[in-house]
Amino acid sequence: MTARVLIVDDVPANLKLLEAKLTAEYFDVLQASDGLKAIEAARQEQPDIILLDVMMPGMDGYEVCQRLKQSPETSHIPIVMVTALDQQSDRVKGLESGADDFLTKPINDIALFARVKSLVRLKTLTDELRMRETTGQRIGMIADADIAPAKDLTGRCLVFDDRERQRARICEMLSVQHDVTVADTSAELMDAATHGDFDLILVSLSLQHEDGLRICSQLKSAEATRQTPILAMVEEGDTERLVRALDMGVCDYLTRPVDRLELLARCGTQLRRKRYQDQLKTNFKRSMEMAVTDPLTGLYNRRYMTTHLASLMEEGAHSGRPLALMILDIDHFKAVNDTHGHAAGDEVLKEFARRVTNNVRGIDLACRLGGEEFVVVMPDTDAETALTIAERLRNRIAERAFPVDEETRLSVTVSIGLAGAIWPDDTNDALMERADQALYKAKRDGRNRVIAEAA
Ligand code: GH3
Ligand code: MG
Ligand code: MG
Repeated sequence: MTARVLIVDDVPANLKLLEAKLTAEYFDVLQASDGLKAIEAARQEQPDIILLDVMMPGMDGYEVCQRLKQSPETSHIPIVMVTALDQQSDRVKGLESGADDFLTKPINDIALFARVKSLVRLKTLTDELRMRETTGQRIGMIADADIAPAKDLTGRCLVFDDRERQRARICEMLSVQHDVTVADTSAELMDAATHGDFDLILVSLSLQHEDGLRICSQLKSAEATRQTPILAMVEEGDTERLVRALDMGVCDYLTRPVDRLELLARCGTQLRRKRYQDQLKTNFKRSMEMAVTDPLTGLYNRRYMTTHLASLMEEGAHSGRPLALMILDIDHFKAVNDTHGHAAGDEVLKEFARRVTNNVRGIDLACRLGGEEFVVVMPDTDAETALTIAERLRNRIAERAFPVDEETRLSVTVSIGLAGAIWPDDTNDALMERADQALYKAKRDGRNRVIAEAA
């Protein structure tokens, strides 16, 4: 893996040393010699990770960290604080100012590289989601609003440690702020993690009866749990296990004996990142939905229908099961617009879509082709059933007038053309064309009727 690392230190010799180490591991290194330059470089260069000295004249590392984490341009970049201090209170202060981790000088190379790689990997996922967000904004599907940092940092935590006393201690400390669930065995853990909606899983790497690393690897490979952040708890000095855990994709770790404030600070970091990613994912999902739906009626649009129909055709050609399709076109719709205005026309279209949706089955796919033309695709449906459905639909439109405003009710009718797929060589276009021919005939024969293609 290669990544761009910004190193920040006021002592030139420290910069040289770190640069040499990182370059030897093929990282791309950028440097800054004070806080302000660091902030500028982070904004301009968008590095993948920042190694930040704490003690610097002028602006110290804590403040630099805080500023970087507060700015939407740089808040997603992971920061590791590097310092000669090794006081618990300093670590907590660093984590609380938003740092993702803390390394003490002299730096242990193995821990350094494992940590840098693991944080860069975590960032890659966020970057992918951020990119989709940008695309969504560009095509106008997502409002161009900054994603607000999460306020509610109460999370659902799942704890696994088979050493009773340690576990009780962790749970007690966590439950001050979080909802805590405990698993007694790895089977129980996998079950809870798969079926529960957890924000964070805490796993001990020094278990009595089981292998903590194996459990982390299982969590990381199962589809349902792969994305849930894991915090590992390791014995002081057990660098080997820690490095393997980080390589596996464990997000963060705590060294025993676990300090309460450090525990809460690290959980907070994980929760913030998860909430941020969840928001990006939700936005993406919404933009996907918008890309395939028609804004006026909420039905699927032509693009979605065409793609989906192609899959259904392929599947049908294999299975030989029947597939029917109808095209619906509102009768004399132009007159509605001309007489009552475009807004009234829109109301008719919305009500029409509602009636269509309410009168087709769950497996049927209703879409607006454009204008006052609609399509319903009916999988697993033979000609006779399709005709029944179409007749019912035609009736539901004609039987009751459409309310367009307080006073006005309009009677609306629809003409429908029906066609069934002919296996194995039928195509989207051919099927649509036959339904269209039938529709044309329905119009010619007087409208407000269903015509099935000539068999
Ligand atoms: P026919 O019975 O032969 O189908 O006649 P028609 O008037 O329904 O067909 P025509 O294709 O001549 O007219 C369709 C009209 O639909 C014309 C267009 O202005 C209107 N239309 C298309 N899209 C919209 C829309 O989104 N909102 C509104 N209000 N009208 C629309
Ligand atoms: Mg029409
Ligand atoms: Mg038309």
